[in-house]
Amino acid sequence: MALIELEPAVEPESVRALRREVRAWLAEERRRGTFEPTCDSWLAGFSPEFSQKLAKQGWVGMMLPPEYGGHGRSGLERFAVTVELLAAGAPVAAHWVADRQMAPMILRYGTEAQKRRYLPPIARGEEYWAIGMSEPNAGSDLAAVRTRLERVDGGWRLQGQKLWSSGAHRCHYMMVLCRSGPAEPDRHGGLTNVVVDLRAPGVTIRPIRLLNGEHHFNEVTFNDVFIPDDQVIGAPGDGWAQVTAELAFERSGPERILSTYPLLAEMVGALAGRPTDDRVAVLVGSLAADLWALLRMSQAVAGMLDRGRDPEVEAALVKDLGTRCEQRVAEAGRAVYPGAVRLPAADTFGRRLAEAILHAPGFTIRGGTNEILRGIVARGLGLR
Ligand SMILES: Cc1cc2nc3c(=O)[nH]c(=O)nc-3n(C[C@H](O)[C@H](O)[C@H](O)COP(=O)(O)OP(=O)(O)OC[C@H]3O[C@@H](n4cnc5c(N)ncnc54)[C@H](O)[C@@H]3O)c2cc1C
Repeated sequence: MALIELEPAVEPESVRALRREVRAWLAEERRRGTFEPTCDSWLAGFSPEFSQKLAKQGWVGMMLPPEYGGHGRSGLERFAVTVELLAAGAPVAAHWVADRQMAPMILRYGTEAQKRRYLPPIARGEEYWAIGMSEPNAGSDLAAVRTRLERVDGGWRLQGQKLWSSGAHRCHYMMVLCRSGPAEPDRHGGLTNVVVDLRAPGVTIRPIRLLNGEHHFNEVTFNDVFIPDDQVIGAPGDGWAQVTAELAFERSGPERILSTYPLLAEMVGALAGRPTDDRVAVLVGSLAADLWALLRMSQAVAGMLDRGRDPEVEAALVKDLGTRCEQRVAEAGRAVYPGAVRLPAADTFGRRLAEAILHAPGFTIRGGTNEILRGIVARGLGLR
């Protein structure tokens, strides 16, 4: 049986100093009232102003080379910054997807012109990107996408529909996985990634609302949308390898562990200094222990990415465990909160709890369901 590799990453003093700097900056922003922490702030906290402020600090596009507007920092440095932002519940959704997965994808597979066009505005926190993978009949089975890309004079035409597109109504671009040719030599052949300008003629974006009316998701349709040649990423037909590499970035970060951390912090604050039932103390203590271990695992994955390794299996393992822990925090909140959970809630504990309950079902679905992740882990262990 192959062993999963999770070498612990050692955080040098320079990274610890960066962590302290980010924490102090966030505390000052909180003191000035520029943001209110929320659960799942990397999906729900969309603030172009805040993203641009972070970019000015050098905390967006951290790993991009300076010639494309980035800061040439390491994966461990980026990890430390993202942990602090998520733990604070800061509104980072606007730039999150672009910074996390589109920038590395364009850097690796884009042409020089594409890198110069798209990367600097991402690093400035000014242009935002949506993920165009899922469709009505293609989610876990992503190779089943039916959105079609067809050759026309001077470029391509795009026809089809994407679903669950987070933030598409507020983003500038979407990276769309589509079928551009026959599924040869296997189903993963004939797939291509194209950049779609979400303001282009033929693009329609419709909301899919949460139970309480919040709008994060969308259904996006492409009706004969013209795609110039310079918006195709890499060679037509090479999309599958690109999307697989992109998913390693999408799945490996601390946002798969910390979406409900602001609730845990509120809960601990509410319990502090009061006589606490032993069961509650055990519940909260075990969550804190799980979080600590999971963060170390996620940091190890960041270290592997830094060393140029492909941590597909390790990232799947951390995301499966991490998202279940996020949901357990919401369940613990329910058990501890005195009274019924309502929106609008009367206090911050109740608000964080309501946010966590509303968003929790999606934690184990988005970015690949936990069943699919366990399949990846089983394959990595040689069990399938
Ligand atoms: C909050 C949130 C945000 C999202 N944002 C985006 C986004 O921005 N862009 C985007 O493209 N998509 C997005 N998605 C979509 C997400 O990626 C898909 O929902 C997910 O991949 C599952 O696909 P599906 O919904 O089609 O479910 P299905 O694939 O139909 O799965 C249904 C059920 O069957 C199980 N299942 C399916 N196949 C297998 C198998 N082989 N073995 C065992 N079990 C299996 C699944 O685990 C699941 O429980 C988002 C989803 C959520 C919840």
